[in-house]
Amino acid sequence: MVIDSIRDGIVIDHIKTGLGLEIYRLLKLGKLDCQVAIIQHATSQKGSKKDVIKIDSPIEIDLDVLGYLDPGCTVNVIRDSKVAEKYHPAIPETLTGVISCKNPRCITSAESDLPHVFRLTDKDAQVYRCIYCETMAKKIKI
Ligand SMILES: [Zn+2]
Repeated sequence: MVIDSIRDGIVIDHIKTGLGLEIYRLLKLGKLDCQVAIIQHATSQKGSKKDVIKIDSPIEIDLDVLGYLDPGCTVNVIRDSKVAEKYHPAIPETLTGVISCKNPRCITSAESDLPHVFRLTDKDAQVYRCIYCETMAKKIKI
């Protein structure tokens, strides 16, 4: 795959170094049929390091996942080999089915068909808590 020549697809750019794989995992990009490239430690035009994900298909991206993991990244929608749209994901107020509650006494442990829902309780620190038991979601370490 010539990674610079996507015709119709998505490029997630300016990902914080080290988060590329985590985004790949939480967006379940491994389940896609199309070609996906993760470029780690790419050098940006400003000379700093970043991760980049290129998806060779115009799929729908779960922006909640992106906004949760790395609100500083940029999503480029490529059409006819040109950037047709460019946007930043917003930090989501709630996360449904993205992360799971680690509290063994949480009702989500007993009732497996309950969705795992987390609510943003501190926007500055980006703290998410389980809506059922208030357990804090673990920060992703990079
Ligand atoms: Zn819980």
